[in-house]
Amino acid sequence: MRQGSSDEHPDTLADSARVLVAEDDDAIRKNLVRLLKIEGYEVFVAENGAEAINLAREHLPDIVLSDVMMPVMDGHGLLAALRADPITNAIPLIFLTAKGDHSDVREGMNMGADDYVTKPFQREELLNTLRARLERIRLQKASYQRLQSEAKRLLHYDSLTCLPNRAWLTARIEMAMSHCRRNQSTMALILIGLDGFGRVNDAMGRDTGDRLLREAAARLQAMVDGAPLAGSFDNVARLSGDEFGVLIEGFGGLGYLEPYSVALIREVSRPMLANERDVFVSACAGIAIWDGSSTADAASFAQQAEAALHQAKGNGPGSRVFYSAEISKAVSRRIVLEHALHQALATHQLSLHYQPQIDIATGKIAGCEALMRWQHPELGFVSPAEFIPVAEESGLIVSMGTWALNTACVQGKQWQDAGLHVRVAVNLSAKQVAQDGILAEVSQALKNSGLPPDLLELEITESIAMQDVEMVIITLAALKSLGIALAMDDFGTGYSSLSYLKRLPLDVLKVDQSFVRNVTTDPGDAAITRAVVAMAHSFGMSVIAEGVETQAHYDYLAALGCEVAQGYLFSKPLPAEQATEFFRQRLRP
Ligand code: C2E
Ligand code: MG
Ligand code: MG
Repeated sequence: MRQGSSDEHPDTLADSARVLVAEDDDAIRKNLVRLLKIEGYEVFVAENGAEAINLAREHLPDIVLSDVMMPVMDGHGLLAALRADPITNAIPLIFLTAKGDHSDVREGMNMGADDYVTKPFQREELLNTLRARLERIRLQKASYQRLQSEAKRLLHYDSLTCLPNRAWLTARIEMAMSHCRRNQSTMALILIGLDGFGRVNDAMGRDTGDRLLREAAARLQAMVDGAPLAGSFDNVARLSGDEFGVLIEGFGGLGYLEPYSVALIREVSRPMLANERDVFVSACAGIAIWDGSSTADAASFAQQAEAALHQAKGNGPGSRVFYSAEISKAVSRRIVLEHALHQALATHQLSLHYQPQIDIATGKIAGCEALMRWQHPELGFVSPAEFIPVAEESGLIVSMGTWALNTACVQGKQWQDAGLHVRVAVNLSAKQVAQDGILAEVSQALKNSGLPPDLLELEITESIAMQDVEMVIITLAALKSLGIALAMDDFGTGYSSLSYLKRLPLDVLKVDQSFVRNVTTDPGDAAITRAVVAMAHSFGMSVIAEGVETQAHYDYLAALGCEVAQGYLFSKPLPAEQATEFFRQRLRP
């Protein structure tokens, strides 16, 4: 039975507070109700404790005024029932007791009643007691709400970047899911992962790392705020150390997501100024799409985007990957591989193959490239294209690279001792270059093996451009001072700027095989190859073309003035023994 006018549940407990009256005496009850309504209270009425408990659960009144003696369930029963239910146990209760019945009062207070008023009550006494109690609750509620909203703010925001955090995003996704279901629309989650923040922290200090994270956050936020999508709500959150999420609701079709994620990546990959230097970080994107037909809940939707990001990171800087069921499989394969790789070095599953490089002018051996091979007892042969990215991501590449360097140096020395002067090129991961000990490591490898420095070449990739530029230049100059040669591998596939390239002390540019493959058929690839050769020469570098498979490739590259060719036209990478045989035949005078 509800008697009152207001339909709202007021936040403040002013005169519109909601009072539940439990009283079996008709006259007293009517009197009470009239009095309370005149004072502006919203009133619920019960004739006994059992009715009252039902009303309390249904309407959650701010306070209960209850008689003690009632049929069906008395006041004490009502109080016990209220306190036993987590939904109602905080509702205060005031007893109306017969005058002089002290044992009733004591029992009620012992059971957790908040106050009592004796019957027949005085209007003022009743109202004052009621107001005092309600005011106490109001104060308690206000301070609780303050605490709660502060806790909420702390719980849902990342203090470093001032962006919402993962908990917030998850809640936001849930909200967006019900929107999408209602409007039959689609949403997407783009995760942006930054590479190399650990490195920046190590090299330049945490403060600098923090500053860069704030800068990245601000750039993403600015991009999202400026997104040209009317009626859409994009939201940015920071999910973990170097991972950000952008939730897009109601986007304009799939065609929008690809350029949008490219733009987000580009924004955070622009150089950032730290300690008066330009610092480069790279980024990747993992994208998951959700519509009403998806069965994924918020958590698994976020996991899909994570899996896609994981895959993108493996594909290299700047990559975008859309989630698909295949991605899940690929990610679990990566986990298997990473696990297996941990054993690979110690149990001698790795070996080096050597691919000859041919001097185009003379047709003689110019050198060879050492390439890692992995034979796993159960997984079988795993391609470097698959395991190198896993090794990179897990950091295992550093110890694997050390092993490759030392093994190649020893092999080079054996060839020299056998009268075969073949320069060996070893691939160096950007992670190795970033290590403090890289210089000592290379000179140690030379010393241990006895290989003359001019028979060693180190190949680096454009991804080193993502590191602290000045540090890279210093490191490479120091390496060169050992007397070895330096080559830029896979040139043309990364992001390094020409002005940057010019500053690196390089001897050789390797044109990536993706350009060489179509050099005779695709005018664009031909133009790039021609430009790369001309540029390398103008910087005083020589050029190695990778992936030379046909005589036509060879002739075309020879005409461009390319110095060295490497590819299946001459030989695949060979195990050491076969490589030795190959060199013997070619180098015989
Ligand atoms: P990369 O350094 O650019 O090596 C050249 C890749 O092209 C090799 O792939 C080689 O087998 C392949 N290749 C050579 N000639 C031809 C050809 O005519 N046609 C075609 N289609 N391919 C050709 P591989 O051995 O699978 O290695 C893949 C990548 O893995 C390497 O690319 C390199 O980035 C990485 N890698 C291999 N060994 C090492 C290593 O010891 N350390 C590091 N950091 N990376 C390594
Ligand atoms: Mg290479
Ligand atoms: Mg290459």
